[in-house]
Amino acid sequence: MPSVLILGGTGEARRLASVPLPGYRVISSLAGRVADPALPAGEVRVGGFGGPAGLAQYLRDERIDVVVDATHPFAVQMSGNAAAACACTGTRLVVLRRPGYDLDPSWPRVDSLEQAAGLLPALGERAFITTGRQGIGHFRDLAIFCLVRCVEPPEPLPANFTVLLDRGPFTVEGEIRLLRRHRIDVLVTKDSGGAMTEAKLEAARSLGIAVVVVDRPPVTPGVPVLSTVDEVARLLLA
Ligand code: NAP
Repeated sequence: MPSVLILGGTGEARRLASVPLPGYRVISSLAGRVADPALPAGEVRVGGFGGPAGLAQYLRDERIDVVVDATHPFAVQMSGNAAAACACTGTRLVVLRRPGYDLDPSWPRVDSLEQAAGLLPALGERAFITTGRQGIGHFRDLAIFCLVRCVEPPEPLPANFTVLLDRGPFTVEGEIRLLRRHRIDVLVTKDSGGAMTEAKLEAARSLGIAVVVVDRPPVTPGVPVLSTVDEVARLLLA
C-alpha cells in the first residue's frame, strides 16, 4: 500500500489527514512543540527526524511514496529538510501552503522579525506582537510597551512586555476589545494567512492601527505548491 507522510502542525494538515484517501496509508508528523497539540485523525508520529538525513532514513524505513509538506509557511527549516530528503531519496514532494492574508497596500512589509522590530518605535508606542514565541528575542530591546500573544510561554521578557497565552480562532469583536484594552497603536504579524488568525487584521483596519507585515520566506524552487486541501487530495487520488 502506498504511504503518504503529512508534515503538519497546521489546520490544513489536520484537515488533509481527515480526508478519506482510499488505498493509502497516511501518517501525520508533528514537531512536538506544544504541550497539548490538536491531534490529526489517524496515524500520528511526534518529534523531529534528526535533520534531512534523519528524515531521509525515515522515508526509506517507512517506505514513504509521497511527502506533503503542510507545515506553517514560516517553518523554513522543516520545509528545507523535506526538500533535501525527498531529493536524495527520490520521494515525491508536494507543498500545501494556504494563501497569505488579505493585506492593505499601505502596511509596511519586511523580510524578517529583526526588521519588524527596527520599524516599531517609529510607528507606535504600544505594540501588539503576534509573530509567535520563536524569535521573540528580536523585540526584547524595544523600550515601548509590547503585548505578546503566543500559544506556549516565551523566554522571560523585560518588564515592558505583557504576555498573553492564547490560540485561535479569534473573532474581530474580541480582537477589537483586546486592542482597545491595551491601547495598541501598532500590530506586528507574519503573513501566515488562514481564517483562525486573520480577525486581528480586520480589527486593526477598523481602528486605523498600523500593521507591520513579515513576508513569507520563499518555497524551494521546483517543488509543486498547492493552496488547498482539496487540490492535494485530488492530486493523490488521480
Ligand atoms: P522549523 O523551525 O522549520 O523546524 C525546526 C525543526 O523542528 C525541524 O528541523 C524538525 O526537526 C522539527 N520539525 C518541524 N516541523 C516538524 C514536523 N511537522 N514533524 C516533525 N518534526 C518537525 O519549524 P517551526 O517553525 O519551529 O515549527 C514547528 C512546528 O510548528 C511545525 O510543524 C509548524 O508547522 C508548526 N507551526 C509553526 C509556526 C511558525 O510560525 N513557524 C506557526 C504555527 C505552527 P528535525 O530537524 O529534527 O527533523
